[in-house]
Amino acid sequence: MRLTVIGTGYLGATHAACMAELGHEVIGVDVDADKIAALGAGRVPFHEPGLGELLRRHLDSGRLRFTTSYEEAGAFGEVHFVCVGTPQSRRSDAADLRYVDAAFAAIARHAEPGALLVGKSTVPVGTARRLADAHPVDVAWNPEFLREGFAVQDTLRPDRLVFGVESARAEELLREVYAPVLGAGTPLVTADFPTAELVKTAANAFLATKISFINAMAEVCEVAGGDVSVLAEAIGHDDRIGPKFLRAGVGFGGGCLPKDIRAFAHRAEELGAPLAFLREVDAINMRRRERVVELARELCGGPGRSVMGARIAVLGAAFKPDSDDIRDSPALNVAARLQLDGADVTVYDPEAMDNARKAFPLLGYALSAREALHRADVVLHLTEWAEFRALDPAQVRHWVSRPRIVDGRGALDPAAWAASGWDFRGLGRPPGGEGKR
Ligand code: NAD
Repeated sequence: MRLTVIGTGYLGATHAACMAELGHEVIGVDVDADKIAALGAGRVPFHEPGLGELLRRHLDSGRLRFTTSYEEAGAFGEVHFVCVGTPQSRRSDAADLRYVDAAFAAIARHAEPGALLVGKSTVPVGTARRLADAHPVDVAWNPEFLREGFAVQDTLRPDRLVFGVESARAEELLREVYAPVLGAGTPLVTADFPTAELVKTAANAFLATKISFINAMAEVCEVAGGDVSVLAEAIGHDDRIGPKFLRAGVGFGGGCLPKDIRAFAHRAEELGAPLAFLREVDAINMRRRERVVELARELCGGPGRSVMGARIAVLGAAFKPDSDDIRDSPALNVAARLQLDGADVTVYDPEAMDNARKAFPLLGYALSAREALHRADVVLHLTEWAEFRALDPAQVRHWVSRPRIVDGRGALDPAAWAASGWDFRGLGRPPGGEGKR
């Protein structure tokens, strides 16, 4: 089939390359001419494992190309996927829909009669209906669940597909687009527009709630003297709860969960069905960043527990491992906050250095973990890269000025670090050791 993908960021660039991999002819469209030039030259302008190879394979096969021209895209596509951003509005928690509105208007103007416009961006419930009423085109909503770091496999082998459709023809076209994926046994859920939109925001709200639940338990453990990692292990054995997403830490960030739960809460309030608990989920999440700052203060221990002049090494800048995405990154938030308090902060991340430097030019940066840790007074482990989990506490002890570490991801072994002489602090864990007896 002839497809276009409008908006070639994390979601759209992946979707375009994966649709070519499924055998379609694809044009990617973006208003960012630099991004289009990079993609057209085979360069993915962000870090996503496996995407570069897929992109280059299909530029070479001739099935994939990129343009800034809506005219070209409109004349070409039978199905147009809209994958533009839906960031948080500047003035409220609502999603900013200006990019979705502009992209739909532009492609609706240029689309051939009979073309299908498919929204993939995460939007407040009611958006698909509004767009379908505003433009004389066939519309569908096909929310996306990919995870950065696993984007290619999640697109080619998703857990499920969701089609929000209001005509048999729209469903048929989408079934044809995803035929190889459906043929591999991927479950398909078809729904009306509002349900399809809500599936995405509900899924993100559930995940955020699970993370904030265990982080709230960490808060209680901190004052009660419990160990949240042992608690999580014990409750996770219950099938109904399960062990995933129960690692207490500095919480979630990124370009999706924080803005999506805010937009969902905002929209639900507008509709008169408020989701007050999502406000608390958000608040718990933000408090965990503050807790890491407090622990750093505690470890610095100077007069008034000041961090003034302390050398603090921050391991991680991306909001999660295997990504260079720093949008709403807890690691950089904590780093910037400590720097504001007078600390001498040095950040290292295996992939996100360029993005971090652009967004936080005044922080210190190192080219390796070793360089970041050189003569550090406190180490903060804030993004769970495999490289950081593999650090040998006995060896690393020689790099720092004082062996003190905060594990903001609950991913390091406290006993091993303590045994090598480290003052080890975790979130929701008693200082220096484990709660297991
Ligand atoms: P992004 O910021 O990386 O990409 C958005 C792209 O849209 C940019 O390249 C921008 O230049 C382009 N754009 C903006 N206006 C345009 C227009 N009028 N025409 C053409 N292009 C335009 O964002 P993203 O992370 O890819 O997210 C896109 C959407 O997908 C959001 O709604 C997000 O919530 C959703 N989503 C993202 C992920 C993820 O992991 N990143 C996962 C699932 C869903």
